[in-house]
Amino acid sequence: MTNSTIEVTLTEERKQKPQDHELQFGKAFTDHMFIMDYSTEKGWHDPRVVPYQPLTLDPACMVFHYGQTVFEGLKAYRTEDNRILLFRPGKNFARLNQSNDRMCIPQFDEGLALEGLKKLIEVDKEWVPKSAGTSLYIRPFIIATEPFLGVNPSGRYKFIIIASPVGAYYKEGINPVKIAVEDEYVRAVKGGTGTAKTGGNYSSSLKAQEIAHKLGCSQVLWLDGVERKYVEEVGAMNVFFKINGEVVTPILNGSILPGITRASIIELLKHWEIPVSERRVEMEEVFKAHADGKLEEAFGTGTAAVISPIGEFVWGDRKIVLNEGKTGELSQKLYDTLTGIQNGIVEDPFDWVVEVEAHNTLV
Ligand SMILES: *Cc1c(COP(=O)(O)O)cnc(C)c1O
Repeated sequence: MTNSTIEVTLTEERKQKPQDHELQFGKAFTDHMFIMDYSTEKGWHDPRVVPYQPLTLDPACMVFHYGQTVFEGLKAYRTEDNRILLFRPGKNFARLNQSNDRMCIPQFDEGLALEGLKKLIEVDKEWVPKSAGTSLYIRPFIIATEPFLGVNPSGRYKFIIIASPVGAYYKEGINPVKIAVEDEYVRAVKGGTGTAKTGGNYSSSLKAQEIAHKLGCSQVLWLDGVERKYVEEVGAMNVFFKINGEVVTPILNGSILPGITRASIIELLKHWEIPVSERRVEMEEVFKAHADGKLEEAFGTGTAAVISPIGEFVWGDRKIVLNEGKTGELSQKLYDTLTGIQNGIVEDPFDWVVEVEAHNTLV
């Protein structure tokens, strides 16, 4: 397949890299990016790694007007012995194609995308930070680039992967957060786009997040869009509760984003023979379990933080504090195990990690 040879053009000027202790989330970007184009005539073509650079786009491009776009988020981790690992990257590209399906964006070759990602990381391998807790955050995304104001699927797209070295999410150990239960605004409804990672879901969540911040909360807990009764997600994370020895998480119901961290945690819990179930969870049930002394832990899960323990829920004028505001034992164990597997410190019985081969010839 000559069409899928990934051309590499190296930058002439390497940027100054931030020091590990200066790293913030998503502010600095590496020297290169992966890009490929789509047109109805040629399909996906010209996969290439090029110097990181601005895009020149026609202002009529469809992405600017109707938001036909999808994205992913994953990380590359540097091990103590200097290998570079990716965590279940095939799952991210499979999910990107699922998001594509929902947003009428053409399917791409997932194997080619993974190859492109590996090539990008090889070229920018010096950007994968070394200190504990740091990683290279990877952002694949697709935008509709046909200049046309009609509301229909674009005939042209760009698939791009950029990468950003990020600092430790928890600088002083993992810290429980305060969450506001949102019962006016909703994130998604069944039949909508909640199961796709598409930009509009995030711009429409900003308003509720702003209100939560005013209440001194770091995130919003989203309820279902129909009855405002069932728990869906926390911010842009999936959510778990440990109630009376059993771990429960809302079942994927057509409006919840199917997190890869979520799936991994369910697999880990089953492996440990800890009871876990996916089912509908009423917010009222969570408050009742707390009143009965049975709500042991609650935590959000996602690539950025891996595990984010919840210390407090605010729901209108009701408020509950969990586990004295401290990180629960299970939350901590899940965090240590998953981050351990990702960093190559803990054995990976599931074959989740994929090593990036750093070919010396490239750099
Ligand atoms: C990305 C995302 C998640 C977490 O998915 P991971 O694959 O675990 O990173 C959960 N909820 C929403 C809304 C998301 O966008």
